[in-house]
Amino acid sequence: MTKSIGTRAKASGGGAPAAIGAARNGAKTLLIEYLHGLGGVGTMGAISKYYHGYRGGFTKEVPEGSSWAIESRMEWWRKEVRKPGGEIWFGTLGCGSVCEGDRVRGVVVAGPFGRGVVLAKTVIDSTGNADIAAAAGAECVYTDGTDIAVQGTGLPPRELGASYRNTDFTITDETDMVDVTSLFVYAKRKYSRTSFDQGRLIDTRERRRIVGEVTLNIPDMVTGRTYPDSIVKSQTNYDTHGYTVDPYLAMQMLSKRKSVTTWTPYRALLPKGLRGILVTGLGISVHRDSVPLIRMQPDLQNQGYAVGTAAAMVRDLGGEPRKVDMAKLQKHLVAKGILPETMIGAKDTFPLPDRDYEKAAAALASKPENLGLLMTDPKRSAPHLRKALAAATAPEARLRIAQTLAMIGDPTGIEEVIQAVRKAETWDKGWNYRAMGQFGNNMSPLDTLVYALGRSGDASTVSTILDKVALLDATVDFSHHRAVSLALERLRPPAAAPALAALLAKENMSGHALSNVGKAMDAHTKLDGSLTALAPRRNSLREIYLARALYRCGDHDGIGKRILETYLDDVRGHFARHAAAVLAGKK
Ligand SMILES: Cc1cc2nc3c(=O)[nH]c(=O)nc-3n(C[C@H](O)[C@H](O)[C@H](O)COP(=O)(O)OP(=O)(O)OC[C@H]3O[C@@H](n4cnc5c(N)ncnc54)[C@H](O)[C@@H]3O)c2cc1C
Repeated sequence: MTKSIGTRAKASGGGAPAAIGAARNGAKTLLIEYLHGLGGVGTMGAISKYYHGYRGGFTKEVPEGSSWAIESRMEWWRKEVRKPGGEIWFGTLGCGSVCEGDRVRGVVVAGPFGRGVVLAKTVIDSTGNADIAAAAGAECVYTDGTDIAVQGTGLPPRELGASYRNTDFTITDETDMVDVTSLFVYAKRKYSRTSFDQGRLIDTRERRRIVGEVTLNIPDMVTGRTYPDSIVKSQTNYDTHGYTVDPYLAMQMLSKRKSVTTWTPYRALLPKGLRGILVTGLGISVHRDSVPLIRMQPDLQNQGYAVGTAAAMVRDLGGEPRKVDMAKLQKHLVAKGILPETMIGAKDTFPLPDRDYEKAAAALASKPENLGLLMTDPKRSAPHLRKALAAATAPEARLRIAQTLAMIGDPTGIEEVIQAVRKAETWDKGWNYRAMGQFGNNMSPLDTLVYALGRSGDASTVSTILDKVALLDATVDFSHHRAVSLALERLRPPAAAPALAALLAKENMSGHALSNVGKAMDAHTKLDGSLTALAPRRNSLREIYLARALYRCGDHDGIGKRILETYLDDVRGHFARHAAAVLAGKK
């Protein structure tokens, strides 16, 4: 079957707003959704409440205020898509793309009536997972060998009469069918005594993302970078559901109380090298640490509407999203209340002038908040930081500057950092992996110093790090294990391998892979039957970090390799994906 359509918005978290934006602005629109209700996480995922997010713009017209009944919200989306003539295909899965060279021409679909192809002038991929863009060959970012950090995943119970159920009890890769199937099975056991049923949409907060023409990252966002093609304003505190990986955040975490306003440029929604397609929601081009800043429903609804409008605007221009008249689009978004007028044609505030880095480095000792700016361009910051270190006299100031230099790979002040770590004879209070309700630091002050030793690249720091490894066992907080692992894998000293192997041999340090659904069930009932089930994640992550560091330091009697191999079969797809990439030597 082949069907032709003007604009095809696929899937419905941000997909329904995109379809509404497209249809209202005159595009022939088809919305494809594999479940039987629109709204994504906000309805089928039972997250029927806003949390932060800018409530103006298109979001303002969505009824019921900041919390809603799932069924009535789904129906509102359906009606609003239909009113201007949008079509909806429920129970239809987007499972491939139709391309001519680098031009996406449509989507392969599978539904109740079989498989077929929908051709479209513009495809909007709102799967939240960049499914269609990935199928079209878009470069994507997802868990690889670089690190293992994913916000916690949930799957809501359905309790009669209840609506909102926010959960976070595992880490799921919804591109991995073993993971998806296992989760549905062990969650069923988890909820068997308390619930009527469970949700059908896995609530992942972090997913596969495209590499777009611009990628949002934390230092740029916290320093308020604006763009000439901003189309959405996001506004939220920093709800990380786990730990972060950006070195800036290791030294200076964003506060729970602070609401951060950021801007998303249109180019972050355009997969590099592909034409005819736009991506919305959690699948856009954004560093994983930045996802919590853009992911709130009010903001993604505005984003979806903006994208649908853009697609309608280019329908007479061959449907190519890059041809959009940005000034016209932004004007429309201002009228809709999505953007403030000041964003029309605003300048890209980057690159910053060199004097900004010079000033920020010179004042870093008294103004720790300057760190964000310095981390936007470590290469340009380094010479100014070295100058600031030479001029500083107070020990605290010298340590802050020296640590910053070490973090960006410059060992100029490494001796001060070594001495600070040596002075601490025991570990300080660490951070013991949590996901739900995780705000603030995920490393202790000593963790960040140890991490800085490794990032400096200076081999003279190894013995200092190994002194701290000797103090670890399974009763010690997760963040200390993570800090030494991150530091040692940077330096890769063979001398660290026996120490890491000895640590992994200590009681309860290894054997935490969940290689089949039975083990996953036990982990979620016997080991930690709580709603947040932190123990299975914490134990595995600690084991993976240490085994990875061991493997990268040259291994010891093949222990690191053997442990990583046990994770190749882990039902939690991110762990399997990560272990495979580390063993394959990929970074
Ligand atoms: C557990 C959890 C709690 C959260 N808490 C809050 C909160 O309290 N307040 C808040 O504002 N935000 C919250 N968020 C954030 C927000 O809900 C999500 O970031 C947002 O819904 C993501 O939107 P999306 O469009 O990217 O994806 P989704 O909402 O997941 O929408 C994707 C849609 O696409 C469909 N789909 C996927 N793949 C295909 C395919 N191949 N073919 C056809 N259809 C497909 C899905 O069925 C779904 O309808 C939470 C998120 C989670 C996971």
